[in-house]
Amino acid sequence: MKLHVVTFGCQMSAADGGELAAPLLARGFRAAQAPEDADAIVLNTCTVRQHAEDKALSLIGRLRPWKEQDSGRVLIVAGCAAERLGGWIRERFPYVDLVVGAKSIDDYPRLVEEALAAKFDALAESAAAFENIPSALDPAAPIGWSSAVVAPVTIMRGCNYSCSYCIVPSVRGREVYRPYETVLAEARAKAAAGAREILLLGQTVNSWHARGEDGRERRFPELLRAVAAIDGVARVRFESPHPYFFDDALISAISGVAGAGDHVHLPVQSGSDRALTRMRRNYSSASFLSLVERIRAARPSIELSTDIIVGFPSESEDDFSRTLELAERLRPTWTYAFKYSPREGTESAAMSDDVPADVKEERLSRLNALCDRFAEDALKARIGRTVEVLDESGGYGRTRDGLRVKWGSPARPGQLTTVLATGVAKRTLLGESQ
Ligand code: SAH
Ligand code: SF4
Repeated sequence: MKLHVVTFGCQMSAADGGELAAPLLARGFRAAQAPEDADAIVLNTCTVRQHAEDKALSLIGRLRPWKEQDSGRVLIVAGCAAERLGGWIRERFPYVDLVVGAKSIDDYPRLVEEALAAKFDALAESAAAFENIPSALDPAAPIGWSSAVVAPVTIMRGCNYSCSYCIVPSVRGREVYRPYETVLAEARAKAAAGAREILLLGQTVNSWHARGEDGRERRFPELLRAVAAIDGVARVRFESPHPYFFDDALISAISGVAGAGDHVHLPVQSGSDRALTRMRRNYSSASFLSLVERIRAARPSIELSTDIIVGFPSESEDDFSRTLELAERLRPTWTYAFKYSPREGTESAAMSDDVPADVKEERLSRLNALCDRFAEDALKARIGRTVEVLDESGGYGRTRDGLRVKWGSPARPGQLTTVLATGVAKRTLLGESQ
């Protein structure tokens, strides 16, 4: 039996993909090379913007013939869009075997087991059909993540913020922090299985805190140091920190811990204070830039990347020009820029979505043109220099500060390797292994 996981959305969602696969792998499924070879497909959906949700729903529709060709096939729809639209998905796509929303991920293994048991009982197949299939997880076949060399570790779920545009708190719920020892145990296990880079994940990852077994409260910087100190771990990254929780203790951790502070993704969303207030981001453009200055003073070589929304309700040309100004000062190494998408039930959905579609489009392309230049400059600045790359998949990897690099042979998956950068193509450094 073969399994294929399709993930939409953020890195948290991609990390969830691994968890969504686990109960099926434990039941004997193996990774399918391609979706058409699969006996089971898990769609891990996203709802952060309408476009992401539409893509997932359209795929569920397109899977109908695949599903109906063979009654033994299994289709599971999970994640954030499943949380928001669960009942509707069940009605609209009755051939889906199981719909599990993001808030139910802890219950997911039991729900899958029940759904499979019911399905295979109905097909008059006994558990004996699974008897000869090994049930151990195959570490060589990571599912839902691009490589076992870079391993995600989810440290918290949910979000206690209420940015006015964002649906995440409603589909993922309030913050729940995983215990200190559990996070360290997972990171150690992944390092022992070959991971060299650990990616700590949470919606406001730096708000993590938890009491250890000894009763002492741990905060995020301490966790970061402890993960960086694990044998075999060369790099630790974290996503996404919220500027509000980026305190001096964290700045001192990223400046002092080798492998932990070469790149930080720091979403800003807008450069206009009026928009930031209406977004309820809890910082101003000046306080954001002063944080950036403090980070750069502590770690001058750091590369920063960011997320920006254009066309938030009532965004004027003046608001937008402030976003461009902020981008000029931040000079992000890369930028995820999005057109505002109203999400039902959020605070901003009650505001008029009054920036016309063509204006949103035009602002997005101006912002992208500017930020593409910063990205290109960062890449070109490396040409003629050697960079340290973690080989993720044989001739492809990233620098310490997150730039993508391709160099062909020799492939040394899982190893740090030195590459002389010789050119740039498609936002990637090209080079020769030294
Ligand atoms: N927790 C992360 C972001 C999660 S959502 C943080 O706070 O940084 C990922 C990105 O999607 C956000 O940073 C934002 O730029 C974008 N986004 C979220 N809601 C959106 C919406 N309604 N329309 C457009 N972009 C949105
Ligand atoms: Fe959404 Fe804001 Fe929470 Fe990020 S911090 S997940 S943008 S509500």
